[in-house]
Amino acid sequence: MSKMNPFEMFLKQVDEATPYLNVEQEFIDILKEPKEVLETSIPLRLEDGSVRMVKGWRSHHNNALGPYKGGVRYHPNVTQDEVMALSAWMSIKCATAMLPYGGAKGGVRVAPRELSKGELERLSRAYALGISRFMGTDIDIPAPDVYTNPQVMAWFVDTYEKVLGWSEPSAYTGKPIEIGGSLGRGDATARGGMYVLREALKEMGLFGKPLKATIQGFGNVGGYAHALFSEIGVTVIGVADSKGGIYNPKGLDYADLMKHKRTSGTVTDYPGGDRVSTDEILEAPVDVLIPAALEGMVTEANAGRVQAKIILELANGPTTPDAEAILQENDVLVIPDVLANSGGVTVSCFEWIQGRSGDYWSEKTVHEKLDERLTQAFHEIWKIKKANNIRMRQAAYVRAMGRIIAAMRFRGIWP
Ligand code: NAD
Repeated sequence: MSKMNPFEMFLKQVDEATPYLNVEQEFIDILKEPKEVLETSIPLRLEDGSVRMVKGWRSHHNNALGPYKGGVRYHPNVTQDEVMALSAWMSIKCATAMLPYGGAKGGVRVAPRELSKGELERLSRAYALGISRFMGTDIDIPAPDVYTNPQVMAWFVDTYEKVLGWSEPSAYTGKPIEIGGSLGRGDATARGGMYVLREALKEMGLFGKPLKATIQGFGNVGGYAHALFSEIGVTVIGVADSKGGIYNPKGLDYADLMKHKRTSGTVTDYPGGDRVSTDEILEAPVDVLIPAALEGMVTEANAGRVQAKIILELANGPTTPDAEAILQENDVLVIPDVLANSGGVTVSCFEWIQGRSGDYWSEKTVHEKLDERLTQAFHEIWKIKKANNIRMRQAAYVRAMGRIIAAMRFRGIWP
């Protein structure tokens, strides 16, 4: 599968939205670069006593709307360009969800599954220390992403609080509830995607009909999507993780499959379905395809074989611009990542507010506020899409870039 550099994908997405915005080119030029990127080299002491050098990054893309916000990814293929792209997508996403944030992202080039728990903790604490002067409650607030979780956030915030010498729960989000996490953060990304999909189905006259979906990626986001989407009448008939896929046209039972994944480490040998490849999951005869793994999965090489009517991008950057053009030709609606997966950062924002005020909300309040915000964002973007006869991603970028540029214009351009 040919993969496009993710930062080049972002640049192309900006170019595709720019003709529909009446703005000065200088602001577009600013958006096309991250403001600053920190690279850190971490000496990691391994269990055998040796030291291995590990590279990490934190990219600040734009902070016209407020402090930088974005997750931290642990993956052996992380690159600076990927982290830069993910930070830029966060700027667009925060503006899409109407949050008072700019965009950031962090990444560590490591295979966390090859580390012992002790090594993972030492690495996480060293990364938190390395970026400590580059983040903070009103500067940049990190959160979980691929292969990081509430335990990692707990090590991050604990290390940062030791640097500060005082308690600062709002410096990190996605924390365990016991140390200031928010109710409803765990499934927030998938739940937000469900609200957005529900509104799209209503617009398309499909809401209430029995629908089928496949999910690529069975981690935090993909797993919760499987658990939740039956609430809106969507049956999941296939899922894939990094080892391969499993498929059953009658539907896959979430609790049973998750139990299997927890014990065996993968979905592939689940007895309740047939083993298939990841490509077969992407190309299955379904109504909704849900990429929830990594970027660059739907490319010009396979886009023509996608049978779904809707792609709900719960992953960041799963569809390349060339693939999107093919999907448009084939009348496939792509609900873009910057809207579809913005539930995670939205509830992270709720966690930040709760951490700052000490007033913690009920799960019901979190769900209601999330639903209200994303439903509004969906309809505003849908209106722009219809008015200009453009793709949903272009419409989302038009709205988000307009908001960021309006803030930049008030602030003025400083050296
Ligand atoms: P995770 O680490 O919990 O899960 C990732 C999953 O993807 C795993 O099941 C892994 O096996 C699978 N995977 C990796 N490579 C694959 C491949 N080639 N084919 C099939 N499956 C593959 O990560 P996550 O937090 O669920 O994040 C998934 C995506 O959602 C990422 O793009 C991430 O940036 C995005 N996202 C996450 C959040 C969040 O709150 N966690 C918020 C917004 C967006």
